[in-house]
Amino acid sequence: MNAFQMAQEQFDSVASLINLDSGVAEILRWPAREYRFQIPIKMENGSVKVLFGYRVQHNDARGPSKGGIRFHPSETLDTIRALAMWMTWKCAVADIPLGGGKGGVAVDSATLSVIEKERLCRGWIDQIWKNIGPRQDIPAPDVGTTPQMMGWMMDEYCKLTGQYAPGVITGKPVGAGGSKGRTEATGYGVVYTLRETLKFLGIDPVKTTAAIQGFGNVAQYAASGFIDFLGGKVICVSCWDRDDHSAYTFSKDSGIDPRFLQSITDIYGSIDKSKAKEAGYKIEPAEAWISKDVDILIPAALEGQINEDSIEQISDRVKIVAEGANGPTTPEADKVLEGNNVFVIPDFLCNAGGVTVSYFEGVQNDMNFYWTREETLNRLDEKMTSAFASVLKVSEEQKVSMRSAAYMVAIDSVVNAMQFRGRL
Ligand code: NAD
Repeated sequence: MNAFQMAQEQFDSVASLINLDSGVAEILRWPAREYRFQIPIKMENGSVKVLFGYRVQHNDARGPSKGGIRFHPSETLDTIRALAMWMTWKCAVADIPLGGGKGGVAVDSATLSVIEKERLCRGWIDQIWKNIGPRQDIPAPDVGTTPQMMGWMMDEYCKLTGQYAPGVITGKPVGAGGSKGRTEATGYGVVYTLRETLKFLGIDPVKTTAAIQGFGNVAQYAASGFIDFLGGKVICVSCWDRDDHSAYTFSKDSGIDPRFLQSITDIYGSIDKSKAKEAGYKIEPAEAWISKDVDILIPAALEGQINEDSIEQISDRVKIVAEGANGPTTPEADKVLEGNNVFVIPDFLCNAGGVTVSYFEGVQNDMNFYWTREETLNRLDEKMTSAFASVLKVSEEQKVSMRSAAYMVAIDSVVNAMQFRGRL
């Protein structure tokens, strides 16, 4: 099952649970618009490389489409469709006035030089600028893309339109229209929802341990936030190794030190194995993270990682899965987790911190007035706490899983907006 089939299956099961009108369901189970385009790049060696870019706009009833751009070699139209659809639900659950979209390029950006990356970013905008904009569709960074890339893209858009329009894209560097707190936002948002979950389950956070998959933007700040704000211990993280073309788990039973690991991690989230080994980290196979004897699992890398095969390896001790990544759990594995009474904080609630601060970035761009980091993170905490409470309330009232409850809150809000606008 690919990611889009998974996103549709999740949606279908809730649509039937709430008796959603079949015509409305048909609108929402497909993206409203899809663009696929060629991006020819002049390489530094003089050759021309042709890459393919995508932008998918799933729904814009609540506001302009919103969602990141992924540069990843296994990117397909279906992955982007799934991610665009999840963005619609994410913005609705976080209660921010935006719709859902996503974009990408099938490329390993680490294989490109700096100038080639800049040409790719500018080339992506050259092909799609007429179909995006601060009031139309607002991209942002995701896997394989960085604030610097957002800066180039924003600049290209401004050149083409002849106007300063920083709100066309979010996740820009601070000082070029970016918001303070955006880098930490998704990881910290994961931690805020975890804090609320532990409170609800009556578990003392200080006594908890976590295993994390990934060590990129989300995982790094989920790890440091979990330790700094909740006092818990992170036993391991994992990452992809660009030299070996395989992934590894880096563990320490006494607890990893995220700041040290960050200091030996490249901008793509790959940890230097030899330096980690020197510092006493155990380097284990990729899948080791999932079988750790911990209270909390935080998948924060790619989709489909908790599946029919890997679910067997999860320890009985695990009480919470906090989905930092988008779509990390397949529907089959989800049923097993539910049967085992594992509390799953569903992806589009758990990782909504990034898009929430992206929205704050757009608000600051519109005002041309910028907030302090503390102000931004306090507002983020408020939004995440309130989104968690509204999903938990539905989950308790309707006696459904947190994922179904999150879908119910999101679908209700999107359908209401469609009705208010007279689209139905
Ligand atoms: P990133 O590119 O910064 O990091 C990805 C990490 O995953 C890296 O450490 C990489 O080495 C690791 N990884 C890749 N393949 C792996 C594998 N097979 N096994 C183990 N580790 C592997 O990406 P990110 O921004 O941290 O995003 C991670 C996930 O969170 C994605 O699903 C993304 O869509 C989602 N997400 C990100 C944000 C955001 O603001 N960055 C917001 C919401 C959701």
